[in-house]
Amino acid sequence: MVNSDRLVDVFKSLVQIDSISRKEGAISKTLHSIFTSMGAELHIDGAGPKVGGDTGNLIAKFAGTVSDAAPLLLNAHMDTVQPGEGVNILFSDGTFKSDGTTVLGADDKSALAIIIETIRILQENTLPHGPLELVVTVCEEVGLLGAKNLDYSLVKARYGYSLDATDTKGIVTRAPAANHLEFKVYGRDAHAGAAPEKGINAIQIASRAISNIRVGRIDEESTANIGVIEGGKATNIVPGLVTVSGEVRSHTPETLDKETRKIVESFEREVSDYSEAVASEDGLPKLETTVRQDFPVFKIPEDHLVVALAKKAASRLGREMKPKMSGGGSDANIFFGNGIVTGILGTGMKDMHTVRESIPLDDMVKCAELLLEIIQLHANKDFVSSL
Ligand SMILES: [Zn+2]
Repeated sequence: MVNSDRLVDVFKSLVQIDSISRKEGAISKTLHSIFTSMGAELHIDGAGPKVGGDTGNLIAKFAGTVSDAAPLLLNAHMDTVQPGEGVNILFSDGTFKSDGTTVLGADDKSALAIIIETIRILQENTLPHGPLELVVTVCEEVGLLGAKNLDYSLVKARYGYSLDATDTKGIVTRAPAANHLEFKVYGRDAHAGAAPEKGINAIQIASRAISNIRVGRIDEESTANIGVIEGGKATNIVPGLVTVSGEVRSHTPETLDKETRKIVESFEREVSDYSEAVASEDGLPKLETTVRQDFPVFKIPEDHLVVALAKKAASRLGREMKPKMSGGGSDANIFFGNGIVTGILGTGMKDMHTVRESIPLDDMVKCAELLLEIIQLHANKDFVSSL
């Protein structure tokens, strides 16, 4: 039923519209006119100025054809990473690629093309469906800022799907929470040759703290990393300030807290040990700690409707569907934190965020077929109430 020529045309036209994070205005306009021509009710929320971008999140609502079916969320993001301007799309051996100078932008324009094609099929064939709420976010790639600043009063759906993964035979039901950590260690600058006694070496204090931290894989569900160190001005100056940034991720909130605390304590301990050993009148060394939650955990129970629908839809197509775990954060984490249970489906895109990004057309067609099946099953009251 999927019209692959039409799917390809939409996909090609979308990837050729530049839409780097914070500059999604042009693609938003195109999507706005596509969805309007398809009969949707359109909203653009106020996230644009909040994230420093030129447009907000786009919400397109399609009325359902069956009475009292619950609304279903469908999510994709409209922004892409750099280098992503002037994409030249190539097709060979059934696979789309860029010319190697930019990303392709299948992340996440494959999702947009698939959603558009799926709704067109529903409409042309007057297939049963409940209300569909498309939430197309901005600034996903720069810290999930669109989802974090989404006007949730515009969204009635309590569950649905995000199309923003690779595997067409899987549904991501678990992703970790993450904390971002930043430490500013203040020492005291001094001439390193003439008056080192007057200095407090911030780099050395920070390095002692770092050497006591466990990084890498903490356990099956948790990781930690120190990713950036900045500080020091010259070899003849005792460094007075060093900034250290890192992150902790875990599928278990208690572990996230515990590992975050261990890292914070390591910095606190080194700074206070130094203060105890060397008297100072100006309160140095000193530590400033910032811990910010990047995204909350998401964990969908395996008996949730979102998983059951995807499994049943796949089995009707004679395919497999396995719940999966992800190591990264996405809009689904933020939706989950706002009470919207969102499973992540794969569109076939590979090597995202690189100039080698690609996607097989066959996988896009498969994803559209699956989504079409899911939407119809969701409108089937006998199936939904049997769960
Ligand atoms: Zn993405």
